[in-house]
Amino acid sequence: MTQSDEVRDVREVDVVVVGLGPGGEATATVLAKAGLEVVAVEKHLVGGECPYYGCIPSKMMIRAADALAETRRVPALAGEASVVPSWEPVATRIRQEATDDWDDSVAVKRLEDAGATVVKGAARLEARDVVEVDGQRFRARRAVVLNPGTSPSAPPVPGLADTPYWTNRDAVKVSELPGTLAVIGGGAIGCELTQVFARFGVRVTLLEVAPRIMAAEEPEVSELVTSVFVRDGIRVAAGVEIASVSYADGRFRLDLGDETVEADKLLVAAGRRPNLADLGLENVGLDGGARGLETDDSMRVLVDGSPVEGLYAIGDVTGRGAYTHMSMYESAAVLRALLEDGDVPTTTAVPRVTFTDPEVGAVGLTERQARDQGLDVRTATVELSTSARGWIHQEGNDGLIKLVAAGDRLVGATSAGPMGGEVLSMLTLAVHAQVPLGTLRSMAYAYPTFHRTVEDALSRLG
Ligand SMILES: Cc1cc2nc3c(=O)[nH]c(=O)nc-3n(C[C@H](O)[C@H](O)[C@H](O)COP(=O)(O)OP(=O)(O)OC[C@H]3O[C@@H](n4cnc5c(N)ncnc54)[C@H](O)[C@@H]3O)c2cc1C
Repeated sequence: MTQSDEVRDVREVDVVVVGLGPGGEATATVLAKAGLEVVAVEKHLVGGECPYYGCIPSKMMIRAADALAETRRVPALAGEASVVPSWEPVATRIRQEATDDWDDSVAVKRLEDAGATVVKGAARLEARDVVEVDGQRFRARRAVVLNPGTSPSAPPVPGLADTPYWTNRDAVKVSELPGTLAVIGGGAIGCELTQVFARFGVRVTLLEVAPRIMAAEEPEVSELVTSVFVRDGIRVAAGVEIASVSYADGRFRLDLGDETVEADKLLVAAGRRPNLADLGLENVGLDGGARGLETDDSMRVLVDGSPVEGLYAIGDVTGRGAYTHMSMYESAAVLRALLEDGDVPTTTAVPRVTFTDPEVGAVGLTERQARDQGLDVRTATVELSTSARGWIHQEGNDGLIKLVAAGDRLVGATSAGPMGGEVLSMLTLAVHAQVPLGTLRSMAYAYPTFHRTVEDALSRLG
């Protein structure tokens, strides 16, 4: 091919979006609707991890498991109820309602109807403004937006890679439940799925290498969730070392040194690997083996500390919070930069919710993080069961509010309990808008709500 053929082969467009997770899909849709010429590239399913393997199927599983748990609380509160769990409605709902049997035709059509060109294949950067997909080349006049997301990763435990272990992608496709399950990884995903399967009658052992599960959250949360799990019959083993894993005769064996854990199935939920390895980062001056992409507030990629004009990154790979809402939040920043020419500072109040029961919402800094930043920290923790609503609620009232204050403001907060993620909203607002503590204290709190515990905690902050 001559050089002029190569130039002719490059299609010029306004924007190329690489990877269509929630933020990438939103970016491509809005820009196309605004009249820009957009090429949207996806190598698997338009929408990414969240609708097909993450948030949505897992929350459908949790909704079902919570219904079982509430029914089991009936004898303490309202008479007799018997529960015969069945996984069939859950599997059907995930297959039919959530994922269309893992088919993205509807999402592709929606994007095409918005005016974008959808290209299926793995994209690679050849230059800051040139993207190659299976031999097709696109030059982006305005921007390339990277939204490649992450894939499940497994720890380097001897033997593990040779076993047919599950990741989240297998767990959401399960049609029949195992009798026993071992879970490696006590973070949000591991804890959520552990509780779901346990509530459907699977005997679950949850293994965590760190000294406590939910190690990214406050220690009080780890204690709370551990105690609820243990009460529910889940075995929680934190601070373990997994020497090796093997699989034979339909059984997994996990060697913990002083004991062997056996299970029919093994779920590995021990971290995520950014999909950056084959993206051609080295062609834009970045490290080809990078674990993440640094960005400025408009989400422009930083190379050697300086933003690259026209190259943006959003989603889990930016390290600003591996959540769907952050992918969307970052997409909004890119859209402002491209459509309104506006720079907007990003929030430090990153909210996160682990949808266990008790549901754990948190925002901003933990006490440890605040102290590590050298802040003069005051904290207050109040158990939900001490509130009127908690006492009335009785069964299932496990939970707490923890506030982390520095000076006259909250810098972080945790809200665990029934609807902990909903109660979190007022705390997110307080941290985001830096509402003075006096203003928070002067507010009227509806009676009898769980969020009145926030008022109690504020009064104990000193
Ligand atoms: C089990 C589970 C539960 C979760 N629950 C929640 C929750 O309740 N709430 C929440 O906020 N978050 C949750 N998350 C996290 C959430 O799924 C992600 O944060 C979210 O999907 C945003 O990711 P992303 O935008 O970085 O891209 P992703 O969703 O990871 O999508 C990236 C896309 O890019 C594609 N791609 C990658 N490389 C290329 C390439 N070179 N060329 C073309 N395409 C490419 C991939 O195929 C993928 O479709 C959960 C995750 C899991 C695994």
